[in-house]
Amino acid sequence: MDKVQSLRGMVDLLPESIGLWQRVEGTAQDHFRRSGVREIRTPLLEPTHLFARGIGEATDVVGKEMYTFEDRSARSCTLRPEGTASVVRAAIQHGLLSQGPQRVWYSGPMFRYERPQAGRQRQFHQIGLEFLGFDDPRSDVEAIAIAWDLLVELGVGDLTLELNSLGTTEDRARYRSELVTYLSAHRARLDPDSRERLERNPLRVLDSKDSETQALLQQAPSLLDVLAPSSRQRFDLVLEGLSALQIPFTFNPRLVRGLDYYSHTAFEITSTKLGAQATVCGGGRYDGLVELLSGPPTPAIGWALGMERLILLLAQSAQQEKLGPVPDLYVVNRGDLAQSSALLLARGLRRLGLAVELDPGGAAFAKQFKRADRSGAPWAAVLGDAEADLGLVTLKPLRVAGEPISCSLVDLDAIRAVVGGL
Ligand code: ATP
Ligand code: MG
Repeated sequence: MDKVQSLRGMVDLLPESIGLWQRVEGTAQDHFRRSGVREIRTPLLEPTHLFARGIGEATDVVGKEMYTFEDRSARSCTLRPEGTASVVRAAIQHGLLSQGPQRVWYSGPMFRYERPQAGRQRQFHQIGLEFLGFDDPRSDVEAIAIAWDLLVELGVGDLTLELNSLGTTEDRARYRSELVTYLSAHRARLDPDSRERLERNPLRVLDSKDSETQALLQQAPSLLDVLAPSSRQRFDLVLEGLSALQIPFTFNPRLVRGLDYYSHTAFEITSTKLGAQATVCGGGRYDGLVELLSGPPTPAIGWALGMERLILLLAQSAQQEKLGPVPDLYVVNRGDLAQSSALLLARGLRRLGLAVELDPGGAAFAKQFKRADRSGAPWAAVLGDAEADLGLVTLKPLRVAGEPISCSLVDLDAIRAVVGGL
């Protein structure tokens, strides 16, 4: 049989690189706790129409990128391509919205059938935040600040926050017709993708990566100019709030989000160190989505951060030390009695809170010591039948010079005191 390989765009995270992931997840979890945001977990698999309705047929995500299949009862199912629609579904389904505004976060894998490249996979991971039932411009400021501060806390430098306002549905309708008039007059200069978007979802033309299209867009009407005064005022309040928190930003009139349900504030946090896949975090206000999914009218704002791109940035930064999980103690053991005593010892010490790695299989002592060294553990516990017979274990420092210490096998507190440096 041929060797079985993972599917294209589906990536294994091996133990040697997991340290960075765990640090990011741990920091995020603590950051959200301190920010008064609670975790929510939703299924990876959802009914297809959740995304068709919630994201919109005209988007790339729904139109081209979803993993959709029929289950055994011929129900159309989709592996979630993003988190927001599921969070909103869950909030409606469980009546969370009648309990007051919700501040939630999530993390986990998302699935999109895209062309894999650096920072772009078919299974990728996001950390996301959703504020449901928040209308005040200050909630936009807080949501953005939580994303910004998380990235700063993780030690990601050289970030740019770009902002735009998409206004209300009416603002966008007005803008759309101005934009279509302008672009139609220059249709021949548009790239093929943008020509198609001009028919289906004209605002997305602003997103085009094509240089000729981008040049054309320099002269295009700006959304900001058609915003109603109240939308404009709202946007100014958000900008003032960010300035007050000393979060630097740049205004980007061509920033539109790929998904249809966004209104007012839209933002992206980008890094120049990521090449073509520059956006680490994207988000914005989606006041219309909850109603679109048959919930009560509920203003909302949220964002999602791409974990792979974040990890790429962290792995690049020089101060990043190697962060594999290192045991406190490595148990070297050989012989029948020694091996059963070692098992008991490891279990007892783990119960006391030490991280203990037990060498398996009873290989020669020299081999086990090599593995103990490689593990990075500061201490080895050495157990042969002779020691076990006497009810003793020898603790040997591995990283610094020092005499071995003999301890009673049953005095776990004494062993912990030596190893834990207490
Ligand atoms: P892009 O323009 O890069 O395709 P997007 O607008 O489709 O991004 P969102 O739906 O806003 O992205 O998702 C939020 C974040 O999730 C992105 O900014 C990015 O960091 C990350 N992300 C999106 N798609 C992928 C993917 N296929 N692989 C890795 N990360 C991704
Ligand atoms: Mg995309």
